[in-house]
Parts: sequence; C-alpha cells; structure tokens
Amino acid sequence: LWNFSAGPAALPLPVLERAQRELLDWNGSGASVMEQSHRGKRFIAMAEQVEADLRELMGIPADYAVLFEQGGATQHFAQIPMNLAAEGDSADYIVTGHWSEKAANEAAPYVRVNVAASSKAYDYLRMPARDSWQLDPTAAYVHIATNETIHGVEFHDVPDVGDVPLVADMSSDILSGPVEVSRYGLIYAGAQKNIGPSGLVLMIVRRDLLARPGRKMAKIFRYAEHATHDSMLNTPNTWGWYLAGLTFQWLKDNGGLGAMAERNRQKAELLYATIDGSGGFYRNPIDVPVRSRMNVPFTLHDSALDAAFLQESEAAGLLALKGHKALGGMRASLYNAVPVEAVQALVAFMHDFSRRHG
Ligand code: PLP
Repeated sequence: LWNFSAGPAALPLPVLERAQRELLDWNGSGASVMEQSHRGKRFIAMAEQVEADLRELMGIPADYAVLFEQGGATQHFAQIPMNLAAEGDSADYIVTGHWSEKAANEAAPYVRVNVAASSKAYDYLRMPARDSWQLDPTAAYVHIATNETIHGVEFHDVPDVGDVPLVADMSSDILSGPVEVSRYGLIYAGAQKNIGPSGLVLMIVRRDLLARPGRKMAKIFRYAEHATHDSMLNTPNTWGWYLAGLTFQWLKDNGGLGAMAERNRQKAELLYATIDGSGGFYRNPIDVPVRSRMNVPFTLHDSALDAAFLQESEAAGLLALKGHKALGGMRASLYNAVPVEAVQALVAFMHDFSRRHG
C-alpha cells in the first residue's frame, strides 16, 4: 500500500517500525517514551540529540533557536504576530494560496496586515511576480508559505525582501531539500507532513527576534520564554518530539537533505510528465516553474470518472488520492516518506486507467 495523504501523512516505514519496537520499553527504561518525565535525564538527553541532529541536517546557525512548540501551524498564524509585532505595527503578507491567505486572516487581530502581493485573482495558479510586490520597508516582517499544500504552488527560490525578517510557513515542504536558514527570520512547520505526528510545531527563529517585546501576553504564548526553557516551559509533546527525532535520524541515514531533494525531484518529474503527456486526460493547470514538488493536484478530463479513479486506485493499493474539497479532482502528496516506487506505481495505474477510460 502507498499512502499519498496530504496530512497527517505517511511516516518513513523504518521510523514506524523502530517506534513499534521501542513502544513498551524505550531506551532500556522499562517504560514507553510517552510515560517518561520530560524533566528526566533520559528524555533531556534525547531532546538535545534531536535538536543537534536537526541543526546538522539543516545547517542551522548558532544565532537561531530551535523550538518544539505545540498547537499546530494555525495557532502560530496568530502567535507569530503577537510575538514579532508591537501595537500599531504592520506586517506584509504574500498570499499565494489557501494557507498564506489564512495566515493573513488569523494575524489580523494582532497586526495591521498589508497584503503586499496576492495571486488570488489568478485562482492561485501562479505566483505574483516579485517585482509587483508592494513591500513596506518598515514592516515588522514579511510572511510567505513556501509551499501551498492545497493549491500546489511552491517557492523554489527564497524571495529577497531586503532587511525585513522573512517569516515562512514551511509546514508542507520542510526537510524536502536543503534550506538557507540564514535567509529567514523565522521558519515554522506543523509536523504532520515531513516530520512526525500532528500536535508538534517545529520553529527555527533568529535570536534577535526573540528580544522583540511584541504584545502584552501570557508567558505561554511568548517564544522567548519557550527558548529560555528549552521548549519545556510546560509539558511538551514528548511523543511527537521523539518521533521527530527518529525521522531526523532516518534522514541522516539516507543521505540528508541533498539526497531527499534529488529523490523528491525525480518523483515530481515522473508524475508531472505523466500528467502533461496524457493528451489532456489528466491536467495540472499550475504555472510550470512554480509547481509544487510535494503536493500535485490534478483533474481528470471528465469529472464523471473521479469516483471510478478513486475506487480503482484504492483497490490497487494507492491510498488517499482524493483532492481537497476546495479544488475537487485528485491530489497526490509526495512527501519524503513516499518512495520513488510509490510514484512509479501511481503513474503505471494512471496510464492503465486512461487507456481503459480514454
Ligand atoms: N500551513 C500549511 C502549509 C499546511 O499545509 C497546513 C495544514 O496542515 C497548515 C498550515 C495548518 O496546520 P495545522 O493543522 O497544524 O494547524
């Protein structure tokens, strides 16, 4: 069975197998990792190793803090402006799909949102040209979503936004390839695609931004407090933290982010070539240079075939291909845990289906 779910998504099989082996007796403790105190020596040693592995994988500079937050990316749509913007400040939002639009809407109670660019008028089928962005040099930050999970568009280069800190929602493409962390002020990602289980949010934040006073708020919302307490201001998501660590270990064992980028390029090319070469049977309308490597929405030339496609693909062991309700059609998510063989199986099925129903 191959799982193409957009999220929560497949985890690498070796990660799940190891978690299964260790479920009842973790690290010689005689108990599950879920049953350990986060203040205990064993857990703290593990947490430090997980952070060290991530720093190595992503090449995170020392002047960035790594936080293991809770609440989902949606919570941080609101919490980021609370922390980075003072009363009266504005922030620039680049709206390129469902998630960056939602980030802008959720930020609005806490910061003056300036939509500096939007591709909504083009149904998010392309990116707004960089030279059309109306950036404000006095903005508290510029926010982008590097990959739009629903609309299937992705930034393949880091946009230059001058000296204003760039804040990036990388929920659906983090760890899919190397990232120049120093180009960003803050990177955040819900874990449930390329990291681990939902309920954990990974955050990488330049330390000078933690010194911003932000709004008046309770400590639990303040990132600087979380950094000071090594993400253990309160009880963290210990299970998610542990699984994230297993995923980081798996990435290191499999050649790191350079190797992932190459695998992800191969997978995406194979699927897009099948769609584009189908003579119109399948269609992905996204502007080619900004197509997502992680989430590939596509439609069938006749939506009356959708139900048969879904039923037959599932019977062939290809799971979770139904598109998001906003767009209809299909969506194949090709996160790190999806191997090249899964995409080969998918395109073989797609060829066969179009032959039989064309
Ligand atoms: N941002 C992006 C790019 C997403 O794909 C998602 C969906 O999971 C979210 C934010 C929202 O994440 P959460 O459900 O963890 O709040």
